[in-house]
Amino acid sequence: MKKPKTLPLVIYILRLCNNFFGSRGGIDSLACKLLVKLFRVGNWEIDGDKTKINGKEGMEITEKKYVEEVYNYLHSIPETGHNEFKTSKFISEELKKFGYDVVEGIAVTGIIATIDSGVKGPILAVRADMDALEYEIDGKKINIHSCGHDANSSMVLAAAKEVIEKGISRGRAVFIFQPAEEILGGAIEMAKSGLLDEVEEIVGIHLRPIQEARLGEATPALCHGSSKVVKVKINGLASHGARPHLGVNAVDAAVLAINGINTIRIDPRVPHSAKVVKINTSGSAHNIIPDSVTMVLDLRAQKNEIMEELVEKIKDAINGSVQSIGARAEIEVDGVPAAEYDEEMLRIVREAIRDVLGSSIDEIITPGGEDFHFYTEILKVKSAYIGLGSDLVPGLHHPEMKFNLKALEYGKEILKKVVFKRLG
Ligand SMILES: [Zn+2]
Ligand SMILES: [Zn+2]
Repeated sequence: MKKPKTLPLVIYILRLCNNFFGSRGGIDSLACKLLVKLFRVGNWEIDGDKTKINGKEGMEITEKKYVEEVYNYLHSIPETGHNEFKTSKFISEELKKFGYDVVEGIAVTGIIATIDSGVKGPILAVRADMDALEYEIDGKKINIHSCGHDANSSMVLAAAKEVIEKGISRGRAVFIFQPAEEILGGAIEMAKSGLLDEVEEIVGIHLRPIQEARLGEATPALCHGSSKVVKVKINGLASHGARPHLGVNAVDAAVLAINGINTIRIDPRVPHSAKVVKINTSGSAHNIIPDSVTMVLDLRAQKNEIMEELVEKIKDAINGSVQSIGARAEIEVDGVPAAEYDEEMLRIVREAIRDVLGSSIDEIITPGGEDFHFYTEILKVKSAYIGLGSDLVPGLHHPEMKFNLKALEYGKEILKKVVFKRLG
């Protein structure tokens, strides 16, 4: 079936209709949603550049709308970390079709696509994440792209398309599509794959909630904090409830440890926190003095030095406290580093933002964590990370998260400009 050229207008009207009725939750809203869904992923054609969707013939996409149509498709197939099979297959096929050298299956579903100019120059990577989040709604498990990784992937894929079409004149451009950002596994595995060892510079991008940036605004420095999870197992000695003097009560040891943690003092000018968020004891009967307690702590710090200090003090506080009554602690620390950006990269990305949006906003400080910063830490590369305003409401990770799709075009253009500033 040949689609009329007025289709984008029809979709626009349907979306307006969807937004209008969506807030009122009527039957019309459902009908509109169904129609929008049908038009988003239907097997039809628009005049223009032909692109396969989901490996099927039939959908043709106008050049201008490529980023948005890719977004609509990825949005319709949300997949959780390390399960991004359809998403990865689609992106990989597109990249191969564009002419990239593509390596697939890194960290299960990760993709690395490279174009080499053959001329000496910088090796610049642009990174997107692909995973969605799982929710339980009305008793049903459902995946939703509520963090906008579908948007990140669409912007990077559309930028990759335009980069190879125009070509680069020096260095190499490397496009990374990583899995499992939300479960903090993807970036480490991609960075340790050995396939990115020659990368010198890296740029990431993420939509921001409306409170941080409006549509038409962007920063070259989205400053994530470091976040760590500390798992603690305290080992005491079991005994009968009637003879506590023959045991070491792991609960007593845990209480001492928590008090120790709560007395830690670190430079208050840098935001940070340490909280015990889970605690469990061993033993089933109330008359057993428990010989073990497990605890989980959530740590946040806006700078890596402060996080290191916090972790050391936490370990000292726990070990010192439990040992004072004869218990022992096993401590495991996991998590993501804070953002550390390179001034030169920030300058280049800032210029790209100004070229596209007219101006660039200051850095955005966010307490949220991001596994992107493992690339900087493991590969020792220069980095910057674009925070892109999109009028996103009500917030990231909210199951009804929505944003203005115009942001996709802005993000794609900014990424493209960054690549050409370095390699053009
Ligand atoms: Zn997220
Ligand atoms: Zn995210």
